[in-house]
Parts: sequence; structure tokens; C-alpha cells
Amino acid sequence: MAVSPGVCPHRTNRFMRSLFEPRLVNDAFGDPGLYVDFRDERRALLFDLGDITVLPPRRLMRLSHVFVSHTHMDHFCGFDHLLRVVLGRKAGVVLFGGPDFVAQVEHKLRAYTWNVVHRYEVELVIDVREIGVDGRGQRARFSSRTRFGRESCAPFELLDDVLHEETTFRVRGRFVDHDIPCLAYAIEEKAHVKVGKDRLAALGLSTGSWLRELKQAVLTGAPGETPIQVQWRDRHGEHAVTRPVGELRHLVLDVVPGRRIGYVTDLRYTEPNVRTLSQLLADVDLLFIESVFLDEDGEHGARKNHLTAHQAGQIARRVGAKAVVPFHFSPRYEERSAALIAEVQAAWSGTSALLRGGPE
Ligand SMILES: [Zn+2]
Ligand SMILES: [Zn+2]
Repeated sequence: MAVSPGVCPHRTNRFMRSLFEPRLVNDAFGDPGLYVDFRDERRALLFDLGDITVLPPRRLMRLSHVFVSHTHMDHFCGFDHLLRVVLGRKAGVVLFGGPDFVAQVEHKLRAYTWNVVHRYEVELVIDVREIGVDGRGQRARFSSRTRFGRESCAPFELLDDVLHEETTFRVRGRFVDHDIPCLAYAIEEKAHVKVGKDRLAALGLSTGSWLRELKQAVLTGAPGETPIQVQWRDRHGEHAVTRPVGELRHLVLDVVPGRRIGYVTDLRYTEPNVRTLSQLLADVDLLFIESVFLDEDGEHGARKNHLTAHQAGQIARRVGAKAVVPFHFSPRYEERSAALIAEVQAAWSGTSALLRGGPE
């Protein structure tokens, strides 16, 4: 995978400890896409499904959920490649997208002839969730057993802007305007627990499965009185004592807020868009944001419904992003990526000499 052209170092210690590691799929001139790998699991999320051929099959096999911002080709043409890699090998993948997404996936699937696929040993189920601009969702599944015929599922409604939630993280999404509705995403680690190794030693305790149990209880918000059996061994032999979560967590754990990441691509520079992103991404730790044109080509950018690097930096500043990584550069700047990065940096850090007005 490409090294992302970050304008700010984001490999701080805090990030190294977090649940997941996000990386752009391609370099900044390639198709947009963010691969979010989970550190301790063979598991990953993908944001956008353009050209993903750079990802080896073992990385694609890890994908549990794919979140598509919109279905312009550079964000969706990789569907076929993903399907080809996982077909016959993987049991399922969940795809999220905006208006018409179920029909668009169905059309993709119907473009092929499936006369033998129902006999494949490993059944592949593609579970498709379509988010409407009104927050209502449609859902359908497509199974290789039934030659990818559409099976409609019960519709759903979003709770706030949460698209997907698990014990340790959630993915939120909101629509921005790209002349068409386009989903911007927030990937949020819920909380992070650290073991106070010194305190553990001071209490005469040692690590063990009880600690994992305690961490899990804290992360899932278990009641304070939930019992945990603490087991440890020292020179006098084995010991076991039962203590409530509420007592142990303060003795041995530090709970710190989880890391939050933003993935924003393909949008116009308008005040409603900036407000939407502020609601979705306030004080985000790391913001991946499209920076397609230089400010000198701003009119062209507006016609194409894209941001300039300056506008991307302004948005990063408005939402309070702690670090920003620009991408989706126009090929016209093949030799000038440093200028795009510098423009984002200047606007984000507030040192920009450009005295442009605000958004439309
Ligand atoms: Zn687009
Ligand atoms: Zn695009």
C-alpha cells in the first residue's frame, strides 16, 4: 500500500496503541480508498471501492464491511475485483452505500452469468445496506446459493447517524453534497483501556485471563457490581478472589477516549457541507480529506463539485482535526503534489497567505 502523504505525523504513541490502523489504499493520485486494519484480529474495513488491485487477496479476505461514499466509477469500479477474490472463498461481506445502492449492486451482479456458482462449497452472501437521505435504510442480501438473486430484508432506520456498531467501535455517516448525495464517514474507537502495570505489580497481582475479562467488561459497559474472579500465582501458590468490576477498574485500568478517524471525499465547498462535517467529525484525531485542485484552479474545482486543497485545509481547521491527510489529487498536478500538500497544511494550521472568503 502507498505511504500516505500526511501533512502531519500521526504515528504518535497514542495511535500506536489504538484498535485499528488506517491507510490509504493508493497513492494520492490513485483512486480514493481507505483500508482500516484491526491490529489484533484478521479483520479490516474498507472505505470506497475504486481500484483496489494493489491490495493482495489476503487483505481483501479480511474485509467484513465496505462503506462506499457514492458510486462514481473511481469509488465503485473495484466491486468486480473484490467479488472475484472472495467468491468461493469467503462466507460474507456487508456493503453500505447511499441512494439506489441496492439496485446498483444488483445490476453489477446481474451482469454476469451464474450457472455453476450455486454449487460452490463456500456460500458467499453479500449483505447490502442502502442509506436514504431521510435516514431510512433498505436492505437486501444476495447469495451465491441462489445465483445472487435479490432477497429483500426488513427496512431499518438509523439511530442518529450510526451505520454500524460493535462492542469496541462504531462507524457513523452523514451525507454531504457533491451535486449528488455522498456519504462522509467517521470511524470511532469507543474507548481504550490501558493496564497500569506498576499498580498491578504493587498490588501483588499478575496478568492473566481475568484481566482480559475485566477489560471486556469495562469496554462493554458492564455494571460496576459484575464479579470478576481474579486469579494469580506467587511463591505461596495459586490464589483466587472475586471482586466487582467497579472496584478493579480503578485499581488497575486507565480508560482513555478512543481514537476517531474521518474519511471525507467528493464534495462541494458549501457552508451546509462544512456544518455537516463539523457535526460528524468535531475534534477528530485524524482526517483523510480530498484535496483535488489547487486554489488557483478553484473555479474549475467548483464546476467539478470538488474541494481545493485550501478548502480541504479550511475544513480540517473548522472541524478541529488534530492531523490531516490529503488525497484524491487531480492528475493535472502529477509533478506538483508538494504544492497541494503545502496548501492544505497552510490552511489547516492557519498560516495561509490566501485571503479567500468562506464557503458558498
Ligand atoms: Zn465523485
Ligand atoms: Zn472521486
